[in-house]
Amino acid sequence: MPLRKKLIAGNWKMHKTPAEGARLAAEIVAAVGKEPAVDIVLCPPYTALESVGRAIDGQEVRLGAQNMHPEKNGAFTGECSAEMLRALYVTHVILGHSERRAYFVETDDFINRKVLAALPNQLKPILCVGETLAEREAGQTFAVVQQQVEGGLKGVTAEQITTVIIAYEPVWAIGTGKVATPAQAQEVHAFIRGILAKLYGAARAQKVRILYGGSMKPANAAELLAQPDIDGGLIGGAALDARSFVDLVNAAVAAQ
Ligand code: PEP
Repeated sequence: MPLRKKLIAGNWKMHKTPAEGARLAAEIVAAVGKEPAVDIVLCPPYTALESVGRAIDGQEVRLGAQNMHPEKNGAFTGECSAEMLRALYVTHVILGHSERRAYFVETDDFINRKVLAALPNQLKPILCVGETLAEREAGQTFAVVQQQVEGGLKGVTAEQITTVIIAYEPVWAIGTGKVATPAQAQEVHAFIRGILAKLYGAARAQKVRILYGGSMKPANAAELLAQPDIDGGLIGGAALDARSFVDLVNAAVAAQ
């Protein structure tokens, strides 16, 4: 039994109506079978959570949201709370995606409040971190990633950390077709595990899953997933098509 089960999560972003989402989820469920050897999470938009939840009901595929507000309820137009997501059987939530950091000006402090609100509500955060191209070229990759990891995890306890999932997503690789090389990705994943070891001890750090995200496709997945600190993928574009998503699941099974 490996220490960390691989995980493939699909971030559908602002794609798929409820009916389209249910169809895609049903195709995925039919193809992966009853007992997939890796964890699978589908993250449709809020409006398709219910229909996708119904399509995966009773299957070994989990439901994730793409964002969440840290407050329980209140005057926050357009937002959803952890409690609301749990009521739709959501188990995972993507937090701090680079598109939210860039377009919605989300800070590490705000993302940290979401992480701290998700955990007591039995929502597993998928905390996204990653440097821009300018930051990589300026030699700031490690400093940026360290700040995002430490900032996002402030106040997360040693008991909670093993339910957190980190996604390393270099911004320059997201939706661009430019994938990080396995060596580039592994270097940052190992660095992140080192931060976790300093914060929570080596044994706990070994149990935390760190996903790679950024133009992961069936053609490049095997090499990335073979790296010792890459525990799965957060998939954007390739998650919108059942065949490519299932191929990625199969690549993770083979790498497990
Ligand atoms: C993402 O947005 O999380 C992502 C990894 O996108 P893509 O796979 O399309 O690069």
